[in-house]
Amino acid sequence: MRLISLELNGFKSFAQKTKIEFMPGMTGIVGPNGSGKSNIIEAIRWVMGEQSAKDLRGNKMADVIFAGSDTRKPLNRAEVAITFDNQDHYLNSDYSEIKITRKLYRTGESQYLINGQECRLKDVLDLFMDSGLGRESFSIISQGRVEAIFNGKPTDRRAVIEEVAGVAKYKKNKTTAEKR
Ligand code: ATP
Ligand code: MG
Repeated sequence: MRLISLELNGFKSFAQKTKIEFMPGMTGIVGPNGSGKSNIIEAIRWVMGEQSAKDLRGNKMADVIFAGSDTRKPLNRAEVAITFDNQDHYLNSDYSEIKITRKLYRTGESQYLINGQECRLKDVLDLFMDSGLGRESFSIISQGRVEAIFNGKPTDRRAVIEEVAGVAKYKKNKTTAEKR
């Protein structure tokens, strides 16, 4: 499983459609302060289902939509797509290439797609559940996260261990089944 590309359109400072292609191996993102490095990482988190505007340095989710600049008008929509090579089926899907798309309009309307087919947020989250890549995983470590784990409640720490150990999925399925 490998990251192939990230496409941004109207997400934060990326007013113009931008495609980043990742080569095999390690990738570093460099640039001056304020050039959008963190915005790229946030786009990855967002398209994978992030629901906290605060964790994306905003007050409300619509803050991820390009807000305008001296030379450009604000946009009405943010769109991010991420493509994974899944030939080893590391992600729980029959597809050997998986493209996830998330769109958000200023009206509040939002949309998730997996390989072009509209789906629920849950489908996106399920894809990453127990993969070590999900919202609550350690694949992306932001500033302050380390302290949060060390200073967190024992129950929160336990949730972290359950995600790492791969039992979070079963726990969630059990809760869902019990609700029915
Ligand atoms: P640093 O090196 O300081 O960490 P960085 O490369 O990580 O910088 P980012 O934090 O990704 O930079 O980008 C910040 C820029 O993105 C700011 O100029 C900010 O105005 C712009 N930005 C954030 N949200 C939006 C938005 N919704 N619309 C337009 N621009 C935005
Ligand atoms: Mg930054």
